[in-house]
Amino acid sequence: MMQRVVVIEDEKDIVDLLSYTLRREGFDVRSAGRGQEGLELLQRGPAALALIDIMLPDLDGLEVCRRLREDKSLRNLPIIFLTAKGEEVDRILGLEIGADDYVVKPFSPRELIARIKAVLRRREREDEGPPVIETRDLRMDTRTQEVIVRGQPIELSTLEFKLLHFLASHPRRIFARENLLDEVWGRDRFVTPRTVDVHIRRLREKIEIQPEKPRYLQTVRGSGYRFTPLPLEESELEA
Ligand code: CA
Repeated sequence: MMQRVVVIEDEKDIVDLLSYTLRREGFDVRSAGRGQEGLELLQRGPAALALIDIMLPDLDGLEVCRRLREDKSLRNLPIIFLTAKGEEVDRILGLEIGADDYVVKPFSPRELIARIKAVLRRREREDEGPPVIETRDLRMDTRTQEVIVRGQPIELSTLEFKLLHFLASHPRRIFARENLLDEVWGRDRFVTPRTVDVHIRRLREKIEIQPEKPRYLQTVRGSGYRFTPLPLEESELEA
């Protein structure tokens, strides 16, 4: 799957150089010359990373970044800033802004690619979640793709496994179906939110004692789904 990099930069020569370099490395590139346009581009489709120039004609790059961090679906997007010499690098990397890295113009395309790949690798490791998840009567191991429910191994499709693992890696967090499609199915998908419901139903039949009264995979009405871990020992109160 081609990863998309969104470039927000108003200098056409730099956009051309970046587009050429990134495409040669196998990235899908989209660009915007203004901050607002860049924000809209990012909101429309999932990107793997954004390269943002600090000096833009409308919103500056720092403001673009701040707005991205306020957007629930873009809060974790990796960001690399393009800066001119002498710009406030401390602020860029400060917690306040939360960029992942920056490069100073003029930069070498090779160095920029190396930085991009490093940021993407780091993010991938963070997204993987723990290799083994264990809760009451359910255990899943990403290294072997094995799932044990009440002592018995069960068969899950790759997508069912990914969906369950994603939800279980973020216990108690509520995900809308659209978010799950982006996170689990990815952007090259030809599926509708209904697909999520179908997979959740199948998972419940495989892991829940009473699929119609799920303990793990819960529906949050009007919002989406969440995974609720159970304590390892069954408490008396719950019985
Ligand atoms: Ca500029």
